[in-house]
Amino acid sequence: MDVLVCGGGIVGLAAAYELAERGADVTLCEKGSLGNGSTARAAGGIRSQFSTRVNVALSLASKPVWDAFEERFGVDIGFRKNGYLFLARSEATAERFRENVRMQRELGAASELLTPAEAAERCPGLDPEPFVAATFNPEDGVADPNLAVQGYAGAAREAGAEIRTKTAVTDVYREDDRVVGAEVREAGEAGGTASERLAADYVVNAAGAWAGRVGELANVDLPIAPRRRQVAVVEPSTPVPESAPLTIDLETGSYFRPERDGVALVGGHFAESDPDADPDGYDEGMEIDWAAGAVERAGAYADYFGPETRIRRGWAGLYAVTPDHHPVVEESAPGFVTAAGFSGHGFQHAPATGRIVADLVLDGGTDLVDVSGLARDRFERGEALTERSVA
Ligand SMILES: Cc1cc2nc3c(=O)[nH]c(=O)nc-3n(C[C@H](O)[C@H](O)[C@H](O)COP(=O)(O)OP(=O)(O)OC[C@H]3O[C@@H](n4cnc5c(N)ncnc54)[C@H](O)[C@@H]3O)c2cc1C
Repeated sequence: MDVLVCGGGIVGLAAAYELAERGADVTLCEKGSLGNGSTARAAGGIRSQFSTRVNVALSLASKPVWDAFEERFGVDIGFRKNGYLFLARSEATAERFRENVRMQRELGAASELLTPAEAAERCPGLDPEPFVAATFNPEDGVADPNLAVQGYAGAAREAGAEIRTKTAVTDVYREDDRVVGAEVREAGEAGGTASERLAADYVVNAAGAWAGRVGELANVDLPIAPRRRQVAVVEPSTPVPESAPLTIDLETGSYFRPERDGVALVGGHFAESDPDADPDGYDEGMEIDWAAGAVERAGAYADYFGPETRIRRGWAGLYAVTPDHHPVVEESAPGFVTAAGFSGHGFQHAPATGRIVADLVLDGGTDLVDVSGLARDRFERGEALTERSVA
């Protein structure tokens, strides 16, 4: 079975590894370098506190891999389990939190409901006053996406996958509706390119924010939009302890988490508008006005971010967003598997997704997670899910 994986981010690499491990002949093509898309720009959050069963299931199916990553792949990804702390300002959100915790616990997650005072025990700089409830899971945390890329890439190569960087998929060939291969173009040393046709029984679209474009090559219309998101690295006026959780004020969308030595990452999307970005030509830098606003919002509920807080640097990356904040994971056309549109959660869901892609290609279905609700025709059928726990 020849499989061509398009995209060398965490999702494509996890899929390439799982496929090669199960005996498929895998070629992964990445148009730039490994992880240089959204993966390198992620905040590294890993959690099982989602509001829909399928997202929680993807988290729980990924968890064993994150928990034993170093043993399995020989790379320490710096996974720090400080927990995620979600905060609710209104009774309506608190009610949803109660339902979420019930559902998450039923599926096996260690989530708990907290009072604002208990939340402040977990995050000592937190002002509990604006909040009415919180949820916490001590098993959630953050890891380094670049190291995870290295781990998966090494394991995929060891399992026999061929990984080709600076090699773009430029066309997808179909015969009698079935995918039979792709045109790939490799950028040469001297600036030229060389095209070749690769035969494949399956092409996997793991192109993240570019997935819509890759879908078009196979005449598959995907509702996946590239949306720009920013992160700031700040030196807070009071150092954020390294043990503090990733803390999200859900109703404003503001979040922060500790880095090392008291430094923190601060993020959130606050603008009313959310236009599509051009994944090949968006501003990868952080806007200082956005960063000042993000720090001010964080300072409104956490004492760490007083007026002396200094903005050190930052960056922007892309979420691959679908209308219901769930990915499309399916065989979209015969021989064409899509695994994209993770809407800001794709780093953490990559281990389960890699296995699911391998199951779809090699077995025609999967029993790891029920992904029937992740087919793209859910939007036409009016059966879209809505993930509300997003930042
Ligand atoms: C600011 C920010 C914070 C985030 N924080 C988190 C977080 O805390 N937790 C979390 O789980 N997720 C987070 N995310 C989301 C996460 O980064 C993505 O969901 C995840 O990286 C998606 O991985 P991917 O492999 O699908 O995409 P990518 O990493 O974008 O990989 C896709 C790859 O496909 C390549 N490609 C595109 N077109 C072609 C082509 N035609 N031929 C060959 N290659 C092609 C691209 O170059 C790219 O490398 C965050 C994202 C951003 C922007």
